[in-house]
Amino acid sequence: MQQTRFYPIGTPGQPWGDAERAAWRTAQTRQRSHADDVVARVDALRTRFDVAVYDQLDAGGRCYPLLAIRSRDWRPDLPVGVVTGGVHGYETSGVVGALEFLEQSAADFAGRINLLVVPCVSPWGYEHVQRWNIDAIDPNRSFRAGSPARESAALVALLAPLRGEVLVHVDLHETTDTDESEFRPALAARDGVAFEPGGIPDGFYLVDDSERPQPGFQQTVIAAVERVTHIAPADADGEMIGSPVVAHGVIEYPVVELGLCAGITGARYVTTTEVYPDSPRTTPAECNAAQVASIVSALEYALAHR
Ligand SMILES: [Zn+2]
Repeated sequence: MQQTRFYPIGTPGQPWGDAERAAWRTAQTRQRSHADDVVARVDALRTRFDVAVYDQLDAGGRCYPLLAIRSRDWRPDLPVGVVTGGVHGYETSGVVGALEFLEQSAADFAGRINLLVVPCVSPWGYEHVQRWNIDAIDPNRSFRAGSPARESAALVALLAPLRGEVLVHVDLHETTDTDESEFRPALAARDGVAFEPGGIPDGFYLVDDSERPQPGFQQTVIAAVERVTHIAPADADGEMIGSPVVAHGVIEYPVVELGLCAGITGARYVTTTEVYPDSPRTTPAECNAAQVASIVSALEYALAHR
């Protein structure tokens, strides 16, 4: 469908300044509680895992604890597995999937791999059901030294000491209908460029690192998820969201160059999950289960291919 309206903030063709960013911020509303949905659920895990507040985020008059959950029996002789969710706060199954993994499956890996799970990288985005942070910055284009996104800088600092020790990193995301209806038009408006309509793949897919692809790893995760929910097909051009489909359900990005979360650990096995929650063929519970299946299959594959 052709998108003809202009985004309601800013002047078409001109990048936003401070006034436009402030107008955008004012338009955001708090819709759910990080304390109730995430912090309380993490507190219930404290009997089984080590929970640390690795930083705090002050945003919009609130102070959010940034929480990391670690294996209690952390052993220096074991490899490290990292799971990150809620880099994009609106992508709910990434947050819930990380929590469900901790609640249901993480114990199965005790004594095999040291786990570090950050279920909600962007609490303000979670509460406001937003892709960007409060400063209208996309955290998932901002994982680099000196990042202007505080959420990204805090995660980079948390993981920096583990560089070289991380064997596998799974970053949990969604691709939603609101990407096309809201977030891509907002991005075009913010940057003063024309909005080019695109498509949203119907189903789950993965993003591999084009610079260091691991096709066997990606296909193992796809096969595990396919038992839970459907995998997105390529479009008529053999692509998904403008990128060539390199294998069933897989596209590739240069994750470090783009400042994506998947690039920050340097792990041999890295993937970004993309669940599609708006499909009539799936449910929220199935999307959460797809995230858990991704994590479990990724960890098992990495441990079997060290
Ligand atoms: Zn995302």
